[in-house]
Amino acid sequence: MIEISQHGPVTRFRLGREVMGKVQYWTSCFLLDGLLIDTGCAHTAKELLAELRPRGVELIVNTHYHEDHVGGNALLSKELNAPILAPEASLPLLAEPPWIHQHRQLVWGDPEPSRAQPLNKTLEACGYSFQVHHAPGHCDDQVMLFEPNHKWLFCGDAFIAETPRTARPEEHYNQCLQTHQAMAVLLPQVLFCSPLGAVEPAVPALERTIDYLQDMRTRIMDLNEQGFTPEQMVQKLFGRESKLVVFTEGQFSYQNFVEAFLK
Ligand SMILES: [Zn+2]
Repeated sequence: MIEISQHGPVTRFRLGREVMGKVQYWTSCFLLDGLLIDTGCAHTAKELLAELRPRGVELIVNTHYHEDHVGGNALLSKELNAPILAPEASLPLLAEPPWIHQHRQLVWGDPEPSRAQPLNKTLEACGYSFQVHHAPGHCDDQVMLFEPNHKWLFCGDAFIAETPRTARPEEHYNQCLQTHQAMAVLLPQVLFCSPLGAVEPAVPALERTIDYLQDMRTRIMDLNEQGFTPEQMVQKLFGRESKLVVFTEGQFSYQNFVEAFLK
């Protein structure tokens, strides 16, 4: 299923696999005058291609290697004759996509291998100039694209919510906090992020998130110093474990969130 919305010249494609008439998990990609930022998941690639063909795509850029951001790479690049740029660290992961858990295969699908060229620190594309900033924490390879004239920040999954509680095992929340601080320093007006779409005004949302993450870090470090285990910290902070644990085979959990501050 695709839902399309417009934010000035930026088109958001909200994408997700429909199961029994409902989409449980959404991702996004964004089109700006021929520049496609991320390509969604494998399950929605054909549907997205049908929407993009009449609009035209000159260049594809990936923010990071996750399967809900690169799943349309191979099909869209071939059918739309558009080259792909991606963070240098992502390139081997695009060429040989890593194994993913069953729930991710179900929700997003395995991405086809794709070939990309490395992004530089700046990007001139489709009449716009972007700064390319490293944005680690969610995963090591992630970058964000900042367009300083319009103050747009395309940040992939670097901003997922103002009060995140679950995390994946590969996430590092001290790095996430630093990335949020680096985002705020850029003084963006709009964040274009995968889970939420357009977040505007961006800076107050970032400041609230930074305050929340700093508070969580302080509470987790205090509990750690008192000798509580991560499981006990989850009970103290949230009262119970997330219901996502079962469906995601332990990949999304409150305990991962706690442990993501202790790395
Ligand atoms: Zn991601």
